Amino acid sequence: MPVAPVKTSTDTAITGERRIIVAEELGYCWGVRRALDIIEDAATPESRVAPIGDIIHNPQVVHRLRGQGVEGAQDLDEAESRGFKRVAITAHGFGPQLAQEASTRGLEMIDTTCPLVTKVQRLAQKLVKQGYYLVVYGDDYHPEVQGVLNWASTSKAVATKKIEQLPWNAKRGETGEGKITPPRKVAVVSQTTKNIDELMEFANALQAMVVPNGGEFRLCNTICEPTTERQEALKRLIGEVDLILAVGGRKSSNTARLADVGNQRGVTSYHIERPEEIDPDWLEGVTNVGVTAGASTPDDVIQEVVDYLASNGFTPPEGGIRPVDEDYVPAF
Ligand code: SF4
Repeated sequence: MPVAPVKTSTDTAITGERRIIVAEELGYCWGVRRALDIIEDAATPESRVAPIGDIIHNPQVVHRLRGQGVEGAQDLDEAESRGFKRVAITAHGFGPQLAQEASTRGLEMIDTTCPLVTKVQRLAQKLVKQGYYLVVYGDDYHPEVQGVLNWASTSKAVATKKIEQLPWNAKRGETGEGKITPPRKVAVVSQTTKNIDELMEFANALQAMVVPNGGEFRLCNTICEPTTERQEALKRLIGEVDLILAVGGRKSSNTARLADVGNQRGVTSYHIERPEEIDPDWLEGVTNVGVTAGASTPDDVIQEVVDYLASNGFTPPEGGIRPVDEDYVPAF
């Protein structure tokens, strides 16, 4: 069977066609999809479940889940005071104390921790047992990072994205007033959703502090495969489009990050929550518009954005927003 030629930007410039190009990886990641499936299967309006913390940073999904008996609570006290008998750990994971505390209180616990987060938790424990000082590259306030630190259960650990925020300010072997040098063994794991280029920059700088004078440095790249694929898909989009719309809830930091990456690479990019936020002026003179979405953005919201663009003269992608591979399981 003859294969249809792939259209390039040059082709569209000649034909005058305006196109919507959807990133090959966008929206719900495998772990969030899995967590939502587990929790939606478990909850009913008669047998409600309270995930502890934000299950997802998307107001539309939060509203839909509420109708199905899934309502977030900030902690076990709040869940109990609101009459919940069943609580859940979100895909980000949590320290071991939450399950223990829930069991003590007689609450049923549903664990939706993403297996790729569990892998980081176990690795952190192992590195600490092997005598490494643990550095978690990530946002110290993020529940996933807090959970990893709690599983590591040591005072010899720190979470940061900035070299200046480490407890050391000098290379091993350096002496002098105010110099604080790292211990002999330091290992880094990463929050699963971080950017590989930034992780490598951080790790290279830290390695230069640790390895002098017989120091041992270990980097474990625990950025998950779905995140890596999303970042790569966005980079491929950059060369093809002259505007990027990153779709996701206002509070979704990974959606904001997608828009940042687009802007940093020279393509005007906006973070939007809903199609109504698209300013028609943004589309003036645009031939190809790229659409990407954060990990907590449901397909129907992405589709609404595509429909809006289609109604404004852009040709939607032939295969829809995403061919779903039901059997996909990421590499661990
Ligand atoms: S570890 Fe990766 S796949 Fe799992 S929930 Fe986080 S972003 Fe999604």
